[in-house]
Amino acid sequence: VTTFVHSGDGTDEAAWLAQSWLQRLPRLGLPPITTAIVVLAPHPDDETLGAGGLISAAAQAGHRVSVIVASDGAASHPLSGAMTPPEMAAVRASEVRAAVGQLGDDVDLILLGYPDGQLDRHVEALTDAVRSAMPDGPTWLLTTWRGDRHPDHEACAKVAEAAASDRLDVRRFEFPVWWWHWQPAGRMPVDLVDLARRLDLGETHQRRKQRAIREFGSQLNPIGPEPADAPVLTASFTAHFERDFEVFFETGDHPARGNDYFEQLYQGRADPWHVAGRFYEDRRRSLIIAALAQPHFRRVFEPGCGNGELSVMLADRCAELICMDAATGAVETTTERLRAYPHARVACATLPRDWPAGSFDLIVVSEFAYFSTDLVGLAEQIHASLTDDGALVLVHWRWPAADHPYTAETVHATIAQFTDLHLVVEHTEADFILQVLSRDPRSIAQRAAMVP
Ligand SMILES: [Zn+2]
Repeated sequence: VTTFVHSGDGTDEAAWLAQSWLQRLPRLGLPPITTAIVVLAPHPDDETLGAGGLISAAAQAGHRVSVIVASDGAASHPLSGAMTPPEMAAVRASEVRAAVGQLGDDVDLILLGYPDGQLDRHVEALTDAVRSAMPDGPTWLLTTWRGDRHPDHEACAKVAEAAASDRLDVRRFEFPVWWWHWQPAGRMPVDLVDLARRLDLGETHQRRKQRAIREFGSQLNPIGPEPADAPVLTASFTAHFERDFEVFFETGDHPARGNDYFEQLYQGRADPWHVAGRFYEDRRRSLIIAALAQPHFRRVFEPGCGNGELSVMLADRCAELICMDAATGAVETTTERLRAYPHARVACATLPRDWPAGSFDLIVVSEFAYFSTDLVGLAEQIHASLTDDGALVLVHWRWPAADHPYTAETVHATIAQFTDLHLVVEHTEADFILQVLSRDPRSIAQRAAMVP
């Protein structure tokens, strides 16, 4: 195991801030208010450094927030004679109480007090403790990243994984702490591309996080005159936690990640989302069709076609239609509905992996992309398969939903960033966003030569 050293300047924060991939990461939004937030910190301060902004935002929004600190933090200055380990443990306990108090008034704090540096010997007991601290119902469980090159941070990632293993309603995230220090800034490691999410803090939560960090005096200031008494958290290191955003790697299997989820939804239910016969859905589909920027298309792709309600409407407007869905039940229903359209094909597929070959002059992504486990990959496939005059329709429900890893806003912003298309039509209402993006920047009247 490679282990980092605390000493040395590490990667300059300015180098991180210059990375465009950090700017462009898919945004993480807070979950519905009924979702509880549980943060597991290996040491007293990791919760604040890595997730202080999220804790502050969630606490203010009214989420139930708990912070569990696994170790006593007594080993932060192993060679120092300035404090005994029990004295250091007591100082760190009071510091983390004050810091968490800065982040939110009603945040539960649980100090487990296991020995600093030895958490890997207590994984089972820690798992039990985290399990019993997690409330029933939808929960986000966040801890330090397993790739942080600190054995306690790695142990906590294992604990979180084990504690959530029998829960389908828990989303897991891991946040880097020491990684920002030893990892050279540059291209994002490719294995993190699909996992990384960015939470923009805004001024209030950025400020509250800074106040919380300053409570850790024993880590920020020398605890005595000797070299062994030097601060653990240097200015160049804490600079990584002064930025106005936080980064989380979504490591757990989201309920919507496996195709089994969609398979089960359709089992014994031809229409699990009740999209047929509802005025809301009829109206939404009419708006989609009305928003199309031209009367006829050559080749149309509808990923996530569901039970084909929209597919039949699209079939009337094109020479060739390809529909795909992850659930066999949905594919069977859509195949049946499209029987009268020999130019339409339906396939069972996992997207974006099984993206169809060839190019399309229309791709319709309706109520689908927020389920994607690879939003960037999805955007890249769209980008690669649109013709020079191609258009993309995006339509997504805006209300919070427990099985949507992304919000509609995140989906639309991320796909827009990676596809580089012109916004031709936009319709936003409280319930959904509808956008038509095109390689052709002209308006509908311009296309009809009614205006220059
Ligand atoms: Zn730590």
